[in-house]
Amino acid sequence: MITAMLLIDQLTVVTMDKQRRILTDAAIVIDRKIIAAVGKSAELTTKYAHADRLDGHGMVAIPGLIDAHCHADQSLLRGLGDKMHWIPFLDDVVEPWLVKRDPADGVLANTLAMIEMLRGGTTCFVSPNVDPRDDYESLTAVIGQLGIRAVLGRFIVPAEGSDTSGKAQQAVGAAVKVMQQWHASQHGLVSMWFGLMVPRAAGDTVHPLFYREVAIESARMGVGIVYHFCSEPEDAEYIVNEFGMRPAEWSRDHHALGKNVLLINGCQVTPHEIGILASTGTHLVHSPVANMKMATGILPLPDLLAAGVNVALGTDGALNNNSYDMFAEMKTACLLQNAVRKSASAMTAETALEMATLGGARAIHREHELGSIEPGKLADIVLVDMNRTHTLPIHDVVSNLVFCTNNSNVHTVFVGGRKVVDAGTMPGVDVADVLQRASARSAVIRQQLGVETAGAWPVS
Ligand SMILES: [Zn+2]
Repeated sequence: MITAMLLIDQLTVVTMDKQRRILTDAAIVIDRKIIAAVGKSAELTTKYAHADRLDGHGMVAIPGLIDAHCHADQSLLRGLGDKMHWIPFLDDVVEPWLVKRDPADGVLANTLAMIEMLRGGTTCFVSPNVDPRDDYESLTAVIGQLGIRAVLGRFIVPAEGSDTSGKAQQAVGAAVKVMQQWHASQHGLVSMWFGLMVPRAAGDTVHPLFYREVAIESARMGVGIVYHFCSEPEDAEYIVNEFGMRPAEWSRDHHALGKNVLLINGCQVTPHEIGILASTGTHLVHSPVANMKMATGILPLPDLLAAGVNVALGTDGALNNNSYDMFAEMKTACLLQNAVRKSASAMTAETALEMATLGGARAIHREHELGSIEPGKLADIVLVDMNRTHTLPIHDVVSNLVFCTNNSNVHTVFVGGRKVVDAGTMPGVDVADVLQRASARSAVIRQQLGVETAGAWPVS
């Protein structure tokens, strides 16, 4: 429900505005979808005396978190990717899931993940590989029902037959048709992007004309391109051996870099490639938990940031994270860099929070309306309950948000002024039913895929 005008007072606001102001004894005024005012409680309660009121005492308001790399369709496989190298992980778990799954299970998996995200303060996510076989109608309907912002990368590969200009146009045109049908649906909550794939291993098809066509269409539609890039030692090595160039050079030469491109991972990038990403304005999303869990490499994050590359944060997903918790992601991003750089300030809490908010907003080209709590922006706001044993006292609120807070602290969440999480509950959503169905389907799905758990201990 969207209230005509709502004033939330007596709280702390981490604005993420240009000065990065943190306001205490503060208030936020939401006018339908938009943030109308941010300031001191005393002033705004007088000025907006007619507004509905919500007591924010003990709360810290932050902009909605943006999970810029999130396979929301993998939640039903949680834990089944443990202890695996990325190649069998993709071949033996991810691929069978995409090929064999019932479309209804795909929707159920997305639903479970989206509920987890909203209850964890994530108000927007980028799902890079939404399968062409998915049930887009049901998926977008659930997005609308839950009220989360979703950027869906419609998965597209240069499959057989896209090696001539006409065939490339035909292949890309088929994807465009689907994208146009769902783009900006559900009152603008859904955005459709190209979920591209570049060569990573022997056998992957390469058709330069196809990539050019994707670039042309993405510019024409004003939508982004997202794909996994230079993630693991083997896929970077493959590009070098096969094409005699670094992955960023390959992507640059195939029209797959630029301001409308979001690269995933990039753990293997060299200083030369960082320069290419910076000069082309390409964005990158970092998923430290998944990178560490799968031992795929360590992103030279401080070097990318120093070069001016916009870096967002993402969870990756239930198969290699194994959650969609952006608070854990922020903390891990700091711990990883501090550990490998042997410096307690290699990666700060402030930078982590910037990446999870403004960095994500920039990566999806929506910095003008998302990523901070400022008048005129969309009211995507998370109220974090800090009055808990693990988050008190508050000497430094940003430190507490990144190093102490977890998704259980999330109290209330607004997306575009709509209260989608209300004191931990989700109005109009039968969460218990989703949990029951997810549990019921999990054993069936495991059997369907023929995947065993990696657990070492006997279960009886
Ligand atoms: Zn991924």
